[in-house]
Amino acid sequence: MDVAIVGGGVIGLSLAWSLAGQGRSVVVVEQGDFGRESSWAGAGMLPPGRLKGATTAEARLRAFSAGLWDGWAAALQSETGVDTGYRRCGGLHVTAPGEVRASNESTLFHEIREWVREGVEVHERRGEALREVEPALAPAVQDGYLLPTMAQVRNPRLVRALVAGCVMRGVELISGTPVIGFRRTGDRIAAVETSSGTVSADRFCVTGGAWSRQILAQAGVDVQVEPVRGQIVLLNAQPCPIRHVIECGPRYLVPRSDGRILVGATEERVGFDRRTTAGGIGGLIDFALSLVPSLASASIERTWAGLRPGSIDGLPYLGVVPGFDNLFVAAGHHRNGLLMSPGTAHLMQQLLSDERPEIALEPYSIRRGMNGA
Ligand SMILES: Cc1cc2nc3c(=O)[nH]c(=O)nc-3n(C[C@H](O)[C@H](O)[C@H](O)COP(=O)(O)OP(=O)(O)OC[C@H]3O[C@@H](n4cnc5c(N)ncnc54)[C@H](O)[C@@H]3O)c2cc1C
Repeated sequence: MDVAIVGGGVIGLSLAWSLAGQGRSVVVVEQGDFGRESSWAGAGMLPPGRLKGATTAEARLRAFSAGLWDGWAAALQSETGVDTGYRRCGGLHVTAPGEVRASNESTLFHEIREWVREGVEVHERRGEALREVEPALAPAVQDGYLLPTMAQVRNPRLVRALVAGCVMRGVELISGTPVIGFRRTGDRIAAVETSSGTVSADRFCVTGGAWSRQILAQAGVDVQVEPVRGQIVLLNAQPCPIRHVIECGPRYLVPRSDGRILVGATEERVGFDRRTTAGGIGGLIDFALSLVPSLASASIERTWAGLRPGSIDGLPYLGVVPGFDNLFVAAGHHRNGLLMSPGTAHLMQQLLSDERPEIALEPYSIRRGMNGA
């Protein structure tokens, strides 16, 4: 086997699909069911970016990945027949109700300035002009920025397409099998130990999401990856009162094409606790109604929580693990793992194939988060 991947979320599956597309033999070992953790729980927002104007490490990976999404979704669909629900629905970033303009210190101001600098299409919309874009917005919401190229994907369908694509490309998929150790000889990993035997390969890549710290600890590496819980409420509103993804600070409304609206998300450091809470869900419903009051009559269809893989600075760890010749990592994508999955897969596939990655991977080095490195 050329490559063994540990963890079958969107990052591991995307990498496996990419590697198999280049003729590599690949096995993915997953402790539960494929794509049922953070990759299933996420909201599927895909913010835009333009690589030419990107100046930071975050912007480069975001823009590189955003630029791949059209072709990535089309290739997955034509190969597997699964529609991932990828579409450019546009996005609207608004100030909080009652706030007249985005202050120069606000995150919104900095995000918009970065997009403008990159050359992403952004239009300011105030007052009536804002309501022409989204008539159902509360009158107290006064200022916003329209991003026509923002997209979304339905992540459970994306995972289904990736699993189908991996099967069609001959990837060996092993589910219900936790990796519980590494067999090491010098600076090389010979095999991973699982609950039902060993898996050998030339190279290994850890894509264990929020569990990556525990997985790498088995190889004697301590890297700071922390679970960050995100709760979500799924509303059903017929007809759906909004068309764009609407973001306000760290929370958002994501309209699906079938009248459902995702309201997300909390950001909580509570360990590996996937429960939803009254405070979390109540806060999200209050938030939704403060932006779009007519959602008061929507039904609550479902609530859930997922564990984002948090890194020390919100950027993923990508590359070789120091001290090893054949152990790699692609983890810690925090709030952007769905967006960054095609870019991560592309760059890691290049690295694992001894090609020069199109974007230099040094800023994403795992050394940033390693204790004792
Ligand atoms: C509420 C919420 C909203 C989000 N919204 C967005 C969004 O709008 N846009 C966006 O881009 N991102 C979003 N994200 C983030 C995104 O979902 C994650 O960054 C991404 O899914 C991480 O993918 P992953 O494959 O690294 O992790 P996961 O999907 O968690 O996959 C890791 C896998 O590793 C497996 N594993 C763990 N330990 C072992 C072991 N010992 N052996 C074998 N397998 C193991 C797990 O079972 C799991 O399946 C959101 C996340 C949440 C929770």
